[in-house]
Amino acid sequence: MAEEKFAVTRATFDEVILPVFAPAQFVPVKGKGSRVWDQQGQEYIDFSGGIAVTALGHCHPALVEALKKQGETLWHTSNVFTNEPALRLASKLIAATFAERVFFANSGAEANEAAFKLARYYAAKRHSPYKSKIIAFHNAFHGRTLFTVTVGGQPKYSDGFGPKPADIVHVPFNDLAAVKAVIDDHTCAIVVEPIQGEGGVVPATPEFMQGLRQLCDEHQALLVLDEVQSGMGRSGKLFAYEHYDVKPDILTSAKALGGGFPVSVMMTTQEIASVMSPGVHGTTYGGNPLACAVAEAALDIINTEEVLLGVETRRAQFVAALEALDAKRDLFSEIRGKGLLIGAALKPQHAGKARDILNAAAAEGVMILNAGTDVLRFAPSLVIEPADIEEGMARFTRALDNVPGLSGAFS
Ligand SMILES: *Cc1c(COP(=O)(O)O)cnc(C)c1O
Repeated sequence: MAEEKFAVTRATFDEVILPVFAPAQFVPVKGKGSRVWDQQGQEYIDFSGGIAVTALGHCHPALVEALKKQGETLWHTSNVFTNEPALRLASKLIAATFAERVFFANSGAEANEAAFKLARYYAAKRHSPYKSKIIAFHNAFHGRTLFTVTVGGQPKYSDGFGPKPADIVHVPFNDLAAVKAVIDDHTCAIVVEPIQGEGGVVPATPEFMQGLRQLCDEHQALLVLDEVQSGMGRSGKLFAYEHYDVKPDILTSAKALGGGFPVSVMMTTQEIASVMSPGVHGTTYGGNPLACAVAEAALDIINTEEVLLGVETRRAQFVAALEALDAKRDLFSEIRGKGLLIGAALKPQHAGKARDILNAAAAEGVMILNAGTDVLRFAPSLVIEPADIEEGMARFTRALDNVPGLSGAFS
């Protein structure tokens, strides 16, 4: 069979992939650190981090080494047999957090699915089968399974797929009074992102987070934190809940956990975990040795002062550059987020232009993200070189000149 017959380009995407994504016009083929190259050899600076996934950049030597070593040792055991990398990773996560028991899965959605099922199951076992209400928030994002899109507060993702799981209510984020109005003794859980990621890079306020903890305690409900995006050093702490002086009952993480290798985790306490028994929940690949070996290597590097403190200095560099840009061009109504999850909200007169700005940035050789139509999102490697931030921001500045309707505003 001639290989040319299977030569692939961006156009191939439109012929062979389910049309649920609209990827950029170039096809990345290689990455190193915070630089990426496409099929034509064009080089990009990566401020997108694979949507907050490649937290140590591309092809970090320690992660490559862990993958190679495990790849030559043992790939898969199934859940009929346990394995050393999973046991080591679990032990290290427990040592670093509130948690006493963990469950591994492969994606953020699966970790959340496990979390929501556990919250319901725990309430049914310990309290009553009628204690099933889940309180969640508008603009939240928890994944794409039917349960997780339903808990996520965005009808555009959850409508059109038939009947949804019941007994889920949504109220505005950062609005404690709204939660008070709907919480009752039939509530099994409040589910919240400490920093709403897809919903526009909006951090919870300390009063909100602490208020949720208190309401959960008053109603014997579980506080479930979705740290799929905010976890693993992204916020400048290993997990974002550490900023709030609040302890969760269940926490999920994924994205940066494997630094690009698919793996996710649900963490909880011994008391909550104790309602589960063999067969109640499961997964074929969760806790796979390859995934856990890479995640262990990532955790060893991320959970150090050097990396976590470095997140704050890098954030400062990004924010200073964005503020300088804003001072010249009057672009942003707010620069927000925590650590290296940075949102720059466009002023009302530039609303809807996030996608155009992304495309212009790519054309100048810098990859950035949006969060909705009005917010630019930066989620780079936690160890991005300061020189790469500088060069990337210079490219980004040039790119703004090429955005239709944007350049005229300040010239
Ligand atoms: C990305 C994300 C998810 C979904 O993770 P997948 O790996 O795509 O299933 C869930 N919650 C949050 C907060 C996310 O950012």
